[in-house]
Amino acid sequence: MEEAQIRGPAVDDQTRCRHYGGPLDVVAIRFFCCDRWYPCLMCHQETEAHPIKRWPLGRRTELALLCGVCRRRFSIDEYLVAEHCRFCAAPFNPGCAAHHQFYFET
Ligand SMILES: [Zn+2]
Ligand SMILES: [Zn+2]
Ligand SMILES: [Zn+2]
Repeated sequence: MEEAQIRGPAVDDQTRCRHYGGPLDVVAIRFFCCDRWYPCLMCHQETEAHPIKRWPLGRRTELALLCGVCRRRFSIDEYLVAEHCRFCAAPFNPGCAAHHQFYFET
């Protein structure tokens, strides 16, 4: 699998961005609309000219998330219930759950 290219402004080497730069903000997402990886919704909006399309409910097994610490990919299904990375145990930001509806159809 080729290395995911994370796009958007001010990304560190663990996929933090200037919108979400806390210690737990280490997840990047591949967007359904353009198949491109961004650290967050706002990074996508500032960089792309098209509106976001959410992942359809039937595509929850797509490996659309990436842990910025170990760079392993995991599925939407896994992400929605994960409190940390199952590969490297890096904790994820529990506050992200409030934004899931912007990325995934529910
Ligand atoms: Zn897009
Ligand atoms: Zn961002
Ligand atoms: Zn990890």
